[in-house]
Amino acid sequence: MAPKKANSKADLLFADAAVESLEADKTLPAKFKRMLIKSKLPQKVKDKTVTVKMHLGGGIGYTTIHPVFVRILVDVIKDGGAKSIKIIDGKAQNGLARGYTQEVLGCPVVSCFGETGKYYYPEHIGFESLDEALFSGEAIDSDFFIDLAHIKGHGDCGFGGALKNIAMGTVPTETRRKIHRLEGGLTIDSEKCIYCLKCFKACPNEAIWKNDEKKEISFFFHNCTYCQHCVMICPEDAIAMEDRTFEDFSHGMAHVTAAFLKKFKPENLFFINFLTNITMYCDCWEFSSPSLVPDIGILAGTDIAAIETASLDMIKTENLLPNGLPKNRNTIGEGKHLFEKIHAKDPYLMIDFLKQYYPCTTDYEVKEIK
Ligand code: SF4
Ligand code: SF4
Repeated sequence: MAPKKANSKADLLFADAAVESLEADKTLPAKFKRMLIKSKLPQKVKDKTVTVKMHLGGGIGYTTIHPVFVRILVDVIKDGGAKSIKIIDGKAQNGLARGYTQEVLGCPVVSCFGETGKYYYPEHIGFESLDEALFSGEAIDSDFFIDLAHIKGHGDCGFGGALKNIAMGTVPTETRRKIHRLEGGLTIDSEKCIYCLKCFKACPNEAIWKNDEKKEISFFFHNCTYCQHCVMICPEDAIAMEDRTFEDFSHGMAHVTAAFLKKFKPENLFFINFLTNITMYCDCWEFSSPSLVPDIGILAGTDIAAIETASLDMIKTENLLPNGLPKNRNTIGEGKHLFEKIHAKDPYLMIDFLKQYYPCTTDYEVKEIK
């Protein structure tokens, strides 16, 4: 389907993390609630089943969206008269030990793919080797979808936000693997490898095998999601992606996101981007590093390209904090955006691709909520 032309600026609401005075009502959670009311979200969700997709992180990560904000969102949706509400993520159990429980958040926290892990729907994609995507049944079978995203850097596409929360977050491992596979395969240079096993420990998918006798590692590609944690953690640069084309990865993410969004009427979609605890890497690393830049605030709106573009535009290289990068990697390279200087990938590219397949705009107007 050819994308419709979006011809006007998208309206975005913005809650500034900065406070004018030391009063609870001037702080970000209070502004967030006013923002949700102002956006008319309560009226939009009335009598509808609502699914909120967020990245719960895991391990000892502490920079995902704080439960206090999630609870505010849940309460506003309930007060609006939604028929039901739930929070979804790939592995809901990953959030339990870090406060993302039904008791704290006020609604069920469930896996994207149901108890069986097989509750998903196939959708034809047809981009290079990415033949199809499997989409979360919990998301697709709801009336209203809220993309609750945390903005942070990402080693494969420059940054992660609303778009990535859908493309990588509403699909199971099989689809994630296919998207990552667009970048190429993994190789190891055994001359460089010192068998420190950092890659083995960093792999979240048991896709690296070790041989203590031969002091060799190898890849079990069946399990590999091509997340490249091993590439980035190797101190000797011994692991590489072959035929590396990050543009294809970004392109594939845009295709999958467009296919997902088309499952919903535009009036049944809402996007919230948190520009707080903006770290170098994704929450899937299951640990956190210090913020790259000071907290900025929260954006909300109904246009995914607008909110992603505005989020990137608000992150300025000149605001890079002294301890934002790890001490062993404290220099930045070239590029038009801070994330590009860190990850060598243009973060705007995914958004430009998305505009080809889904009606959305990168022109926006921001209205601040006090
Ligand atoms: S992290 Fe690098 S050097 Fe260490 S075992 Fe893995 S490939 Fe070898
Ligand atoms: S790319 Fe990711 S999943 Fe694959 S071997 Fe490396 S760390 Fe493991």
